[in-house]
Amino acid sequence: MQADIFAPGFKTEPYWWEAAPRPLPTSAPLPALCDVAIVGSGYTGLTAALHLARAGRSVAVLEAEAAGAGASSRNAGFVGRALVTDFADLAERLGAERAKALYGEVWAAYDQVYRVVAEERIDCHLERCGRFIPVFSQRQYDSFARKLEIQRRHLGEEFEMVPKARQHLHLGTEFYHGGSYGPDRGAIHPALYHQGLLDRARAAGAEIHDCTPATRLRAEASSVLLETARGRIEAREVIIATNGYTGVLTPDLQRRTIPFHGFMIATEPLAPDRLARILPQPRIVEDYRMNIDFLRLSPDRTRLLFGGRTGGPAVDLKAKAAVLHRRLLRLFPDLAGIRVTHAWTGRCAASFDVMPHIGRQDRVHYALGYNYMGVPMGSWLGLKLARRLLDAADGATAFDDLPFPTRFYHRGHPWFVPLAMAWFDLKDRLER
Ligand SMILES: Cc1cc2nc3c(=O)[nH]c(=O)nc-3n(C[C@H](O)[C@H](O)[C@H](O)COP(=O)(O)OP(=O)(O)OC[C@H]3O[C@@H](n4cnc5c(N)ncnc54)[C@H](O)[C@@H]3O)c2cc1C
Repeated sequence: MQADIFAPGFKTEPYWWEAAPRPLPTSAPLPALCDVAIVGSGYTGLTAALHLARAGRSVAVLEAEAAGAGASSRNAGFVGRALVTDFADLAERLGAERAKALYGEVWAAYDQVYRVVAEERIDCHLERCGRFIPVFSQRQYDSFARKLEIQRRHLGEEFEMVPKARQHLHLGTEFYHGGSYGPDRGAIHPALYHQGLLDRARAAGAEIHDCTPATRLRAEASSVLLETARGRIEAREVIIATNGYTGVLTPDLQRRTIPFHGFMIATEPLAPDRLARILPQPRIVEDYRMNIDFLRLSPDRTRLLFGGRTGGPAVDLKAKAAVLHRRLLRLFPDLAGIRVTHAWTGRCAASFDVMPHIGRQDRVHYALGYNYMGVPMGSWLGLKLARRLLDAADGATAFDDLPFPTRFYHRGHPWFVPLAMAWFDLKDRLER
């Protein structure tokens, strides 16, 4: 491993925590009773908590670690408006009308992030910066253009195909073969967004109990009993908002979600002219393959934040940082000598149909399986959960009646993730 790629003071925690450190632990006693107990304090749990508390419900959020220690303070902060399955493929699978309804809601989820940030006055560097998706070959370029054209026809979404000769206007590399530019995509500081939701939920009266893993859940006639490491709590309704951290507390959901690790690094600050050669505009960038590499500027526009090699084990973050550093240099050889200040990981959840899921089992409600889309979809389905617990008509969603599949070989431990990622890598190579 190259030792000199690590800047002095290198950290194996998110760059985002510099501006939004994890809140100090609290030790308020658990209430014996509440209207709604929410397991998980990321975007999903806190959005639900905020709306339920404002509607006068007593809410206790149970979090195993520090508040927001899951993916919601660790992600790349890309605010997207698409599902993993692109519109053309989804329309082929489910029909154009159904695909339109699902995509319509993803767009509503995207808009909701902007609305919440504005209405709640959350200072989290949200901007509509546009997204560039570079491709690897002329064949990919043409087939991507065809798919986006179908999307434009059905949904009216604008895009621009950018040939290789002009890709440097979006990304200063010779590595790719042009790509597509979509103007209406955003970037956010994910941990400051989370902090804002946390502050608003607390101010609305929701209790946040960190360092309180829920260990057992038992349905009673008219309530649910939750055992936790800090005592027992009885709730009229329970929300499971654990996404990539879903575990034995809910074995049925555990078998339907596939946890995997995402990885990111932050570089040391770069001179403005160097950065401007790489990202002339502050775009978010994710390349066109199954196992994506992704790139953005830090919100203060001084550093590169880069991610990729998703899905491997999170055993040695320094080794992972070295891999990501090499991949960054492959795109931008001029960056030779640049050092890494932070490397971090977090857990996401895939689902077998690569769709987000919301549902209920009696008094236990859930929303998870965001497949790398949790910034908009966690916020959106968290709101939907709150609305349905309040018996509001707008609690319904187009995601309601999606079957939530599992596979016979998934008993809880995702042993097959490395195999799946190797298969995706092979497909990506063949595609190229
Ligand atoms: C590196 C990385 C990059 C990503 N980039 C993006 C991106 O650019 N855009 C995007 O939209 N999405 C992205 N994602 C995904 C996104 O971060 C997640 O989908 C989203 O944060 C999920 O939010 P959540 O509230 O559902 O879950 P989380 O924020 O993961 O919170 C779940 C919480 O549940 C807690 N928990 C679990 N079990 C228990 C228990 N038994 N008792 C108590 N607490 C429990 C966990 O400790 C955890 O804090 C990325 C993820 C990673 C890791």
